Amino acid sequence: MLEMNHISKSFGNLEVLKDISIQVDQGKVIVVIGPSGSGKTTLLRCLNVLERPEKGEVTIDDQTIDFSEKLDKKTIRELRKQTGMVFQNYNLFPHLSVIENIMEGPVTVQKIDKQQAREVAMRLLEKVGLGDKADVYPHQLSGGQQQRVGIARAMAIDPKVMLFDEPTSALDPELIGEVLQVMKDLAEEGMTMVVVTHEMNFAKDVADEVVFMDEGYIVERGAPVDVFENPKEERTKRFLNLIQ
Ligand code: ATP
Repeated sequence: MLEMNHISKSFGNLEVLKDISIQVDQGKVIVVIGPSGSGKTTLLRCLNVLERPEKGEVTIDDQTIDFSEKLDKKTIRELRKQTGMVFQNYNLFPHLSVIENIMEGPVTVQKIDKQQAREVAMRLLEKVGLGDKADVYPHQLSGGQQQRVGIARAMAIDPKVMLFDEPTSALDPELIGEVLQVMKDLAEEGMTMVVVTHEMNFAKDVADEVVFMDEGYIVERGAPVDVFENPKEERTKRFLNLIQ
């Protein structure tokens, strides 16, 4: 279970998240949508403490971080280990092979034995359909393949929650489907996920809840069928009209 309670985050004078609370039950998928600059990426980065909010709490299972208190590094590390993050631009290490990219987290952060990490990495690579690409380098892969490696890498630390930050928005249209399919498979296997995306069909198919953000607020949230087909708020209607 993942919870974010009363999170506020500013950059200088710009208040980017304004008292945001979300809850994701075990095995559920939340899709966050909203215009550029509405705070979606910052929300994800607060969930794994890549950004530090001024106020609020994040809880993953039985571990809570209260951002109004002084944080110690160990608590942050522990929480971060529970989350796998997939970035828009894959963020793979260019000088490491595909399998080394996936083994990096388990070996250096979790101090897992290399042989064991290799076995887990191979299993994950096969799961994302790239079992034959273990020893190539990221630049030898298509964007879709690189992003599937990105997903395998995030999964390698065996996270409780997966966070996706516009995972397909850097991809050519013909490569988007293969990445969404891997994400769908993960959701069907019961992974708890928070996904920022502009892929509305994915949201309709896979999300248990859709959250619409604008200007640092959650404007509207609900089941995909309600938010997409019967939005209550004017701002949601305007946004959906623009993108659909
Ligand atoms: P997009 O869809 O374009 O990625 P977003 O909804 O993910 O947008 P954020 O990236 O969270 O929005 O940004 C929200 C606001 O915070 C924007 O105005 C952005 O310029 C600002 N911002 C984000 N990160 C920083 C930072 N490190 N320093 C200063 N301002 C920032």
